Amino acid sequence: MDPAIWDIGYLIASILFILGLKKLGHPRTAPTGNLYGAMGMLLAVIVTIAQMDFGATDTLLIIGAGLGLGALIGYVMAVRVQMTGMPEMVALFNGFGGAASALVAASEVFKLIDSGEWSDLGWLELRVAWIAIGLSALVGWVTLTGSLLAMMKLKGGVEIFGTWYRTPTWGPEWLNYIKALILISIIGLLYMTIEQPGNQDYVIAIIALSSILGILFVLPIGGADMPVVVSLLNSLSGIAAAFTGFIIGNNVLIIAGSMVGAAGLILTNIMCKAMNRELIDVLFKSFGGSDKEQVTRTKVGSDPEEVAMVCDGISKCVIIPGYGMAVSQCQHQVREFADILEANGCEVKYGIHPVAGRMPGHMNVLLAEASVPYEKLIEMDDINSEMGECDVALVVGANDTVNPAARSDEGPLAGMPIIDADKAGVVVIVKRSLSVGYAGVDNDLFYEDKTMMLFGDGKQMMTELVSSMKEL
Ligand code: NDP
Repeated sequence: MDPAIWDIGYLIASILFILGLKKLGHPRTAPTGNLYGAMGMLLAVIVTIAQMDFGATDTLLIIGAGLGLGALIGYVMAVRVQMTGMPEMVALFNGFGGAASALVAASEVFKLIDSGEWSDLGWLELRVAWIAIGLSALVGWVTLTGSLLAMMKLKGGVEIFGTWYRTPTWGPEWLNYIKALILISIIGLLYMTIEQPGNQDYVIAIIALSSILGILFVLPIGGADMPVVVSLLNSLSGIAAAFTGFIIGNNVLIIAGSMVGAAGLILTNIMCKAMNRELIDVLFKSFGGSDKEQVTRTKVGSDPEEVAMVCDGISKCVIIPGYGMAVSQCQHQVREFADILEANGCEVKYGIHPVAGRMPGHMNVLLAEASVPYEKLIEMDDINSEMGECDVALVVGANDTVNPAARSDEGPLAGMPIIDADKAGVVVIVKRSLSVGYAGVDNDLFYEDKTMMLFGDGKQMMTELVSSMKEL
């Protein structure tokens, strides 16, 4: 068949990716965007398989088995994953993306070395191929090991033979020198692969050092800075794919990889802004260790009836959701509570912190599931300008994102912008205890006189609050 047909197939797939990404930019069009992206990927896979030369039926069988097994594993994981496990799954898939690219690059280089075909490459061709292979290995393996550690950090730890080990956050200043040394060694090895293209030991050494670098790179990052590293790893998985696209001469992989890389970098920038951090600081400074602060203070809890009475007749309420809403899956009860207030003439808005929950857009997804209109979801800067006029701020399972400790210069939250819940007339906080949030910092907001703590599971408390409101 005319090879131009395959290029046209790849072109259509690339257009679908671009349109898909554009549509993902708005919650209303995001499902269509997702569909476009999936269709583009399906087309790219079909075109790639269709143009393969299946000399041996074994190859067809191996590819078919790989596709079938991969699809089955992906399906089972997607069906079984709890909503709270989504962030870990996203981190894992980032890692798999990096690993897939790195493995393709490695198999290509070993094939060239074993068959001796590398000696047929021209001077420039050889250099371009070996640099791309080295960079793909570097970025791919860093992404894999870094993402696996990030996944465990999001989970909080890992269970080995029935014992739970907490994921450490550790990064003394001198670790940066080790990282720099490893990076320089990898560049040296890359040079050696070009000098001795027939020696695969250098490639194996690049893979080993890159895997260690990935772990050292994520190890010091913890607490509230995790969103930055997750989006950066997402970007790296795309960059690894683009490098691999160069190696195997696949245009659609270059385009899709570059798009993921660029989108991930934009998201990393957004996350840095949300955290008020420079990327360089996140990567090379350790903001607080893995130790969580001990909570020593106490606070008497309120009951749903008291809160319902406070909410009776108010004119403005801002709901601030956080990770606890995702855990307890109480978005429907939150929406029901808002409906009752609105029916009584109260204006209700939702204040959305960019890093609330455990993945970008986490709260938006949950609230969309409960059919909360998008225009009621207000971004942090905009909602903060209204918090002074707010009668009641209802904080549902949020902690770090409303913690006034972030306004100080010290600790893991230092400098992170928060939603100014403390500026509201009354603050109602739904959570199970006074325990610290993800960054491990005690929260002064819990102990303020104007704060009412509704201790309990989010869904149970919101259900009781809704019943109490109905009984008024
Ligand atoms: P936090 O993680 O700070 O706090 C969540 C609170 O939810 C906990 O204090 C917990 O308190 C409460 N909670 C847990 N389960 C329940 C439940 N069943 N019912 C009611 N409450 C519950 O949440 P925020 O959303 O405020 O902050 C997000 C944090 O996660 C930030 O530090 C952010 O940097 C980090 N992060 C964000 C990512 C992202 O991309 N968005 C990715 C990685 C990290 P208690 O145990 O007392 O109930």
